[in-house]
Amino acid sequence: MYLVSACLAGVNCRYDSSNILNKKIGQLVKEGKAIAICPEMIAGLNTPRACCEMVQDHEGRKKIISNEGEDFTKEFMDGAMKTLEIIKTIGIKKAILQSRSPSCGYGRIYDGTFNGTLKEGNGLVAELLIKNGIKVYTENELERI
Ligand code: SF4
Repeated sequence: MYLVSACLAGVNCRYDSSNILNKKIGQLVKEGKAIAICPEMIAGLNTPRACCEMVQDHEGRKKIISNEGEDFTKEFMDGAMKTLEIIKTIGIKKAILQSRSPSCGYGRIYDGTFNGTLKEGNGLVAELLIKNGIKVYTENELERI
């Protein structure tokens, strides 16, 4: 059983109410081999919602800030913690997460400038899952799964 980012399974849960369906991932959910979760929605955020990216403050702390400067770190962290709780309860050991997101991103994420530039790093969910022993993949690594 996998956890998958809900937007990859076709759920309209992205900040602009869109999805980025990956047919193979959608199929995994249909076949009961994966469950689809959107950490930002289970944190209580709505769609549409502010576009957010991860930045670091002058003390090196990671923060989630919207393109209008609002701080959503607490909500995003809440979503990450709830996601971990759910997958621990179910006993899931592998996740396929949407690359680049400040929540789900793995390996490379947007750099906080809101101009499409990527930097090395993980979103809050990916980071928390890795720390808890979950194997994380992105939608670009399906051939490795
Ligand atoms: Fe939700 Fe993660 Fe998709 Fe963002 S990347 S919309 S948090 S499932």
